[in-house]
Amino acid sequence: MIQLNPLRPFDIFDFSVAGEEAQGALPLTSLPRVLAELAPEAPADARDALFNWRLRGFVREEASMAGLDGRKRKFVALEVDGVLWLVCQRCLTVKPESLSVRTVLELVRTEAEADAAPVDDDEVDVIVGSRHFQLAELIEDELLLALPIAVKHDVCPEVHPDLVTGADGQVVPEEAPEDAEEETKPSPFAALADLKRRH
Ligand SMILES: [Zn+2]
Repeated sequence: MIQLNPLRPFDIFDFSVAGEEAQGALPLTSLPRVLAELAPEAPADARDALFNWRLRGFVREEASMAGLDGRKRKFVALEVDGVLWLVCQRCLTVKPESLSVRTVLELVRTEAEADAAPVDDDEVDVIVGSRHFQLAELIEDELLLALPIAVKHDVCPEVHPDLVTGADGQVVPEEAPEDAEEETKPSPFAALADLKRRH
């Protein structure tokens, strides 16, 4: 285990070849692109979240061809865990979402090499390594990929107030004078108005 500051550049090729391992906790506030996803209505201390990370380097020796030395393929395995408050798409209140990254990345030297890499390996992604690699940026990239497409509570805490349509025959407080204008096209409020007229 070595000391590694994700906010300082380091040689990720050397890290991989030496089979190094490092871990730490990175504050959300040092991950600006992830922080931008934080729900504005999140609790005040949600900004203080820490993301635990762990990076491990390793190589795989490719079988040598006749008379040639085997090529060393360089990899890192990255794990990141943390909690980000996001907006539930069903009830529009905030919820803490656990984000988890478990990925194995092969290091190549150039974009061209990355483009040329076979895409048939589902287990391993390819990234361009560097002698001045920014781990925090990789952690950000991977966390953004780990964001759920649609955030939802398993069970929403309550129905969103806009969807309450006068239970028990109670008239919903008016948002606009009823029948004040002709409905010329279907609107989201038409169904609500129909419900009101029935009472
Ligand atoms: Zn919800």
